[in-house]
Amino acid sequence: MQTRRTLLQAMSMLPMVAGCGIPASAGHRHYTPSGVPLRRVNVSQERVIRTIAGLRPFRSQGFRVEAEKIGSRLMIHNYGHGGGGISLSWGTSHLATEMAMRSQYRRCAVLGCGAVGLASARLLQNQGWDVTIYAKDLPPNTTSNIAGGQWSPTSVYDEEFVTPEFMQQFEAATHFAYRYFQNLVGAKYGVRWISNYRIKGEGGKDDDFTSRHIEIYPQHQVLKAGEHPFAVQEVLHFNTMLIEPAVYLPALMEDFYTAGGVIKVREFKDRDDILTLEEPVIINCTGLGARDLVDDQDLLPIKGQLTFVLPQSEVNYITLGNSGLYMFPRSDGILLGGTFERNEWSLVPDPAETLRITQGHRAFFSAMEDPWA
Ligand SMILES: Cc1cc2nc3c(=O)[nH]c(=O)nc-3n(C[C@H](O)[C@H](O)[C@H](O)COP(=O)(O)OP(=O)(O)OC[C@H]3O[C@@H](n4cnc5c(N)ncnc54)[C@H](O)[C@@H]3O)c2cc1C
Repeated sequence: MQTRRTLLQAMSMLPMVAGCGIPASAGHRHYTPSGVPLRRVNVSQERVIRTIAGLRPFRSQGFRVEAEKIGSRLMIHNYGHGGGGISLSWGTSHLATEMAMRSQYRRCAVLGCGAVGLASARLLQNQGWDVTIYAKDLPPNTTSNIAGGQWSPTSVYDEEFVTPEFMQQFEAATHFAYRYFQNLVGAKYGVRWISNYRIKGEGGKDDDFTSRHIEIYPQHQVLKAGEHPFAVQEVLHFNTMLIEPAVYLPALMEDFYTAGGVIKVREFKDRDDILTLEEPVIINCTGLGARDLVDDQDLLPIKGQLTFVLPQSEVNYITLGNSGLYMFPRSDGILLGGTFERNEWSLVPDPAETLRITQGHRAFFSAMEDPWA
């Protein structure tokens, strides 16, 4: 009763607050699809808390989900998800699980403890499998921890290199993952729905992708100048989920342990080394590590660099496509990206890129209207 009364009081205040706070000239400009005005991100040097870089495990022909028979053993590959590996993780792991279920075994080794290894391990446990994860690095030291965490299966392949068979796998994985992540929305897994605003004309291939897949980008609509607070003409609005890796990955590890799983820290040198394992089924979720482990020269890194500024709980929307930059508001900091450097192996952030990212965002958000700034 108390809660309901408090809520009703707060709701009755809303129009008054909005009426007092928004300059009369702004009109309906701040009325976004959610109905709540957007707040500005404060970008300045003294608010920067860290800058990091990671390597997206990319293949022009798309991820590899494939079963390989080696003597009496079954190795199922599940790697190469590029800039969408967290997004696709449950989907490709579902495909890998289906392949594993066709064997007579119910015991396996999962190689890798990033988003893909953990999703594979959990789905197999749910089917009654006895699973051991082997990995060189555990969260927080995986590429999955570097990911921005927007649920969007983009930057995963080059269109000119994909086969119809791959596209079938891709569509199946995308739709399975889209549905599965919705089971995980909430504080426990650090997953939430969020509005995205992409500057029209700056999205390139991604604009095409979202337009062709509006069923997984709800509230997909164009907002004209005057319908949004940004200093640009049109923006494309849609919703995605946002996954916070620092919450999500430990929560999956906890689920894995609760279901009786075992994690062993171990680095494998090559395929022969992997085959010293006793488990009859091996699920290879080693991300970029697969390049050397199973000699996949199609796998290459796409370096991405991110700068974080202090969190702002009042900022709850994503921006994309501001000269290739993007902003995700997470509880461990406001993430400012982005770079996509193909075949770049260095994990050292480039100071010139850091400057481009921070100055670009500063200019973008300074020009944005904020009724309370
Ligand atoms: C800057 C940046 C932003 C990104 N943003 C997003 C985003 O918004 N949304 C999204 O969906 N994706 C995003 N990604 C992509 C995403 O991070 C990857 O696609 C995903 O993390 C791949 O997961 P994985 O589990 O395959 O690999 P990893 O997380 O790299 O895990 C691989 C595991 O294999 C282990 N391993 C590797 N080699 C060996 C070996 N030889 N022996 C033993 N163990 C080994 C590692 O130790 C690790 O445990 C982003 C990536 C970057 C760099």
